Amino acid sequence: MAAIAFIGLGNMGGPMAANLVRAAHQVTVFDLVPEACAKIQEAGAEVADSAAAAVAGCEFLISMLPAGRHVAELYTGVDGLLDQLDSQVTVLDCSTIDAATARATGEAAGERGIGFMDAPVSGGVAAATAGTLAFMCGGEAETFERAKTVLADMGKNMFHAGPAGAGQVAKACNNMLLAIHMIGTTEALEMGARNGLDPAVLSQIMLASSGRNWSLEVYNPWPGVMESAPASKGYAPGFMVDLMVKDLGLAMEMAGQAGVDNRMGQLARQLYEAHQQQGNGRRDFSSIQEMLSA
Ligand code: NAD
Repeated sequence: MAAIAFIGLGNMGGPMAANLVRAAHQVTVFDLVPEACAKIQEAGAEVADSAAAAVAGCEFLISMLPAGRHVAELYTGVDGLLDQLDSQVTVLDCSTIDAATARATGEAAGERGIGFMDAPVSGGVAAATAGTLAFMCGGEAETFERAKTVLADMGKNMFHAGPAGAGQVAKACNNMLLAIHMIGTTEALEMGARNGLDPAVLSQIMLASSGRNWSLEVYNPWPGVMESAPASKGYAPGFMVDLMVKDLGLAMEMAGQAGVDNRMGQLARQLYEAHQQQGNGRRDFSSIQEMLSA
């Protein structure tokens, strides 16, 4: 059992913190939104009045925030939490943010002798609730070993990708590829359907052939082909278009800085932005199928 402070109790952070409570850790939480705190209090966590109060006496500090600026504000900006932590504390930021902010936060933590790891997740709200997230970690090997004991109560796969920032790089690479193969899958299904094929039969054929991919395997974007997929539930998320656009923005920034020719990624971003602008931001990202069917 560990004393864990958890900051950021939104769609992802709420169920992740609840799983830590369930695993019998002593969890103290804080979120700017009181309703988010109340929910997790019911699950058995202690609610603090501020981020600073939440971290008092903690062994692990976990954050799950929307974007890089929130993480910077929390650790080195207005909240300045790094200055309030004992050097024994292990900090795990699970937010999806730019690698530069993750590296800068890791460096600032290192200067204070604090172990920091960026640990963005793959899996979405369903996996956060089920405790089956995948964590992509960036930080020292020693910090990773310590973190594993706690991450295991929220997920089932943990990867050490490299030093601070490496988790964010892995996440951006993965989500750029996800956007590309989702769009590719929707195009293939649309082409088959317009040429007289049943999308369910075509899906089975491609799943047994070289077109096989994750979108086809567990997240089929054609309504009715896969009962459990968002496509069969009116494209209720799932993983929202807004978040995919955010992640593609991070990927484009990363590719640009490294001089990578990522034309497929850029096109995927343009298509997702257009889809978002048509009022689909809060729908599941597989709803991009409708853009082609229109
Ligand atoms: P969310 O907007 O539902 O939750 C973020 C929470 O952080 C909010 O409750 C907000 O009040 C709180 N917050 C913001 N600033 C704060 C501060 N200074 N102090 C305390 N609380 C603060 O977002 P989410 O869907 O839970 O996503 C969180 C992160 O996880 C994002 O970086 C997102 O990209 C990533 N992610 C989300 C999913 C998903 O499917 N939702 C999947 C993978 C990764």
